[in-house]
Amino acid sequence: CGIFGVVGVESAAPMVALGLHALQHRGQEAAGVVVHDPEAGFNSARRFGYVRDNFTDAEVIDSLPGPIGIGHVRYSTAGSKGATAIRDVQPFFGEFAMGGAAIAHNGNITNAESLRREMIERGSIFQSSSDSECIIHLMARSLQRTIPERMEDALRRVEGAFSVIAMTRTKLIGVRDPLGVRPLVLGRVGDGWALASETCALDIIGAEFLREVEPGEMVVATPEGVTSERPFRSKRPRFCIFEHVYFSRPDSQLGGRSVYETRRQIGVELAREAPVEADLVCPVPDSGTPAAIGFGQESGIPYAMGIVRNQYVGRTFIEPTEQIRNMGVRLKLNVNRALVRGKRVVLVDDSVVRGTTSRKIKEMILDAGASEVHFRIASPPTAWPCFYGVDTPEREKLLASSMSEDEMREHLGVDSLRFVTLDGLYRAVGEAGGRDARAPQYCDACFSGEYPVEPADQVGRGFRL
Ligand code: 5GP
Ligand code: SF4
Ligand code: MG
Repeated sequence: CGIFGVVGVESAAPMVALGLHALQHRGQEAAGVVVHDPEAGFNSARRFGYVRDNFTDAEVIDSLPGPIGIGHVRYSTAGSKGATAIRDVQPFFGEFAMGGAAIAHNGNITNAESLRREMIERGSIFQSSSDSECIIHLMARSLQRTIPERMEDALRRVEGAFSVIAMTRTKLIGVRDPLGVRPLVLGRVGDGWALASETCALDIIGAEFLREVEPGEMVVATPEGVTSERPFRSKRPRFCIFEHVYFSRPDSQLGGRSVYETRRQIGVELAREAPVEADLVCPVPDSGTPAAIGFGQESGIPYAMGIVRNQYVGRTFIEPTEQIRNMGVRLKLNVNRALVRGKRVVLVDDSVVRGTTSRKIKEMILDAGASEVHFRIASPPTAWPCFYGVDTPEREKLLASSMSEDEMREHLGVDSLRFVTLDGLYRAVGEAGGRDARAPQYCDACFSGEYPVEPADQVGRGFRL
């Protein structure tokens, strides 16, 4: 998901809408905005579909007055899979003795089911099926006097991955879990402040990127300034390495690095680790593009747009149903026939999950007359599901959970298939010595199976690590 918030500006809603539009790649299913105005109080709007189709109307924006607001773009990972109900669309709102508060959550709470059970037994009335709603109920039960303190209380009971943006009538609050699994950045906009999942959302409103909210940090922003607290016991951070590979936008900055540059470097590593003789390097657009550029530069094989993407289709992977995803490949991608005929083609993509995309693309490119197809993948084999906010399918559906690299090559029917190694990936994100096996610098559980936080609800349900 994507989250955004702003305080101390003349009108928050248009900025929140712009910020969410820039974060649309993090969630395409639905979007919501909550604002507060001293006269009009709290107001909100929640809609299915793209931000640009729902939050550009003057009517909607005018119904959301006030100098402070937060928003959320949703991509369902937990709770009601596939069929999102409007009541699952964030931000969630709660009315407390000291006033109202709204929260927007990116990530996934790994003990949400047991927390929910416990709170329902004690009388909480849940409105949605979302794991994130636990936070509001935990806040309601806290005995602390201020909303930021109640939030701290609540988040200390929550396990897993969370970046949260919350608001009261006057305060904008941002928190990251102690491992800092999901991103969150702080920016300055005019005399106010902005919080966002990624820096590309600061760019769009003309905000200056100040810094990342640190793992385990809570920041509270008002027009007067920003204060910082450390509510959790500190741990060694484990940022999601897959944000670098795929999830974030290439024009964002993560951990002081350009995402584009990291991806290009993954392509360089791939070309060194798994060279191949070929005539063309083509990306599977858009997610494979920077790595393909790096592969081309390092190998000296000419880079070309052998596959063209229809720009009117969004991210297919995050489509919740398999059927749409299947059709999605042809709706979205087409082979540039004249270019690939008779050529030995290297195709570079960011990941192989179920293998549906790669299989379809291979067929399309052979149909178009390519003489050889070689796949180079900018991440190690995805063999484990993510329980921290990226929607990977169950373990059985992951190609790499049951097949070796060679079996996958056979299954996809390509001339060669190679994945960047974990060490190669770590080098590309700036860890010159590769992955520290005893204390990995990132979360890489979907590749390694080493989960930095036990997925308690999953284990309770029989998931075997
Ligand atoms: P497949 O058809 O192999 O399941 O899908 C792989 C494609 O899905 C890749 O092109 C990748 O860009 C895309 N993709 C989108 N979202 C995700 C995600 O959350 N995880 C992974 N691993 N791949 C994703
Ligand atoms: Fe990121 Fe993979 Fe860890 Fe999920 S399991 S947080 S996608 S690195
Ligand atoms: Mg892709």
